[in-house]
Amino acid sequence: MPDQVYNEWINRVREATDIVAVVGQTVQLKRKGRKWWGLCPFHVEKTPSFSVDPDKQLFYCFGCHTGGTVFTFLERVEGKDFLTVVRELAERAAIPEPGRSPVRERAARERGRLEDILEWSWRFFTARLAEAGGADARAALAARGVEGGLAERFGLGYAPPGWDGLVRFLSSRGVEAEEMVTAGVAVRGQRGVYDRWRDRLMFPIRDSSGRVVGFGGRALREGQEPKYLNSPETPVFRKGQILFGLDLARAAWRQGRRPLLVEGYFDVVACHAAGLEQAVASLGTALTAEQARILARHATEVDLLYDADAAGQDAMRRAFPILAGAGLKVNRVTLPAGKDADECRREAGDAALAAAVEARESFLEGEVRRLAARVRAGLAERTQALAEVRTLWQVEQDPVRRDLALQRAAEAFRIEIPMLAHTFGRAQGGGRHTSGKFRHTMERVPRAAGGVPPQLVQLLALLMRFPDQIGVVQAALPGWSAGSPLARAVEALAADAGAGGLETAEEEVRNLLVAATTVTLPPLPAGMTLPDLARQYLQAALLEYVRARHQETVRRLAAGAGAGWEQEGKQWLDRKLELEAGIGRRRGEG
Ligand SMILES: [Zn+2]
Repeated sequence: MPDQVYNEWINRVREATDIVAVVGQTVQLKRKGRKWWGLCPFHVEKTPSFSVDPDKQLFYCFGCHTGGTVFTFLERVEGKDFLTVVRELAERAAIPEPGRSPVRERAARERGRLEDILEWSWRFFTARLAEAGGADARAALAARGVEGGLAERFGLGYAPPGWDGLVRFLSSRGVEAEEMVTAGVAVRGQRGVYDRWRDRLMFPIRDSSGRVVGFGGRALREGQEPKYLNSPETPVFRKGQILFGLDLARAAWRQGRRPLLVEGYFDVVACHAAGLEQAVASLGTALTAEQARILARHATEVDLLYDADAAGQDAMRRAFPILAGAGLKVNRVTLPAGKDADECRREAGDAALAAAVEARESFLEGEVRRLAARVRAGLAERTQALAEVRTLWQVEQDPVRRDLALQRAAEAFRIEIPMLAHTFGRAQGGGRHTSGKFRHTMERVPRAAGGVPPQLVQLLALLMRFPDQIGVVQAALPGWSAGSPLARAVEALAADAGAGGLETAEEEVRNLLVAATTVTLPPLPAGMTLPDLARQYLQAALLEYVRARHQETVRRLAAGAGAGWEQEGKQWLDRKLELEAGIGRRRGEG
């Protein structure tokens, strides 16, 4: 489709979307003045530096300098690509996409059809649970203390024992056999298709917006195998990308409750029954990085409540690096009774289960304690245990937890903290440092320049308000600045002076431009023209850039970089002196 039509469509969708409402689904926002504020979902913080500007329809974090439009926000938070995000918002706002290809039209229609089939299947299962034939399934639920309201909230159902109950029901609604197989609710056999689930308690699996995308069927009788039978992967059901209970838990997470990750469907239901509505489960498969990212989008911390047996504890140890890798602080819950949440609740009561969750401890610390108990078992065992601590320690991302674990390990293994820190640090290349009082014992690594260059931001702020000055600045840009963030940002502005440029700009440039929208410009100094001011801002931004580059070469040379860097360093030094002289001269004149 032509660019202009496409951009108009994007702008229409953006205008039709309330960024405060969209962001508010993930971040708790409070209004202060013209803007809304909350805790940034992109970095860990305790005081809000994340702002949403409803007038400009932009968000910006003053802590980590992430910013952009509602599209950028959803791209980051939901891990979807730009076009998918725009399309979803367009659908919500009922703004048709111009010239959508027939292939895409068909894919969307097919998806809608699958969703219908799953919805019908789900209604079929819930109706069967209520009938006489569903008595055993209802008894199984009652035995677990799952009362009517709860079964309804989860939309539980029952698949009857026959071979074709669902198939016939769907046929009567005009669903083709092939469609049933694609939706995963029927299986193709030698004599046509038959129901995938027979005589099973049915758990509908919903996506984050509450649509049924698949099912988990639990065996009701001894010897019925497998115990759990899930939907196969389909165009709408990707096991590794979904969490059971997500649609219900999100409300609790938004209220600030930590996600509680459990193992099975019944654990989630049991947690809800005990008032722990923040519980979700990975679908009988090992936790995936994508599932961890879903959690990380909504929270900074997660509590693990896995089965108390060896298999559950091992699964938890496998989950830890995946969750920590997604930037989450990981806690573990120790059950006072029973082997899982469901048993605990029935043996010790709802309050005991809730209290156990509240009393969670840092996963790393718990592991250090467990491993430290092996200290007295002899040298080989001790070395092995320490190696395990080190592995876990290196997985942990949270500096406070790392320090604490280091301290605990030092006590348990009787090694001086600096020595231990050094061992742990060197094993991973001396790269990461810990925070606080141990920092001095570790090799300090220069941080990447994460901050936004203030002079450049000021220049961009001026150009955004006075786009007619873009040409002035472009003409004054020295050749050597080509490719710098400065030149790229000016280029992006020249290509599209409006906010539309924000969407297409690469991330670094986009963050600069969004930062620029937050700057308040001082009034034009007396006796100065706008082009003068633009050029003055440019000189300051160039100097800022050149100084940073020069510093970089100096640092590299000090670290033993090759002769090429000497030449490079000299160039930046010359440019720096030249710019400094120029700015000094103008000051002298003024
Ligand atoms: Zn941030």
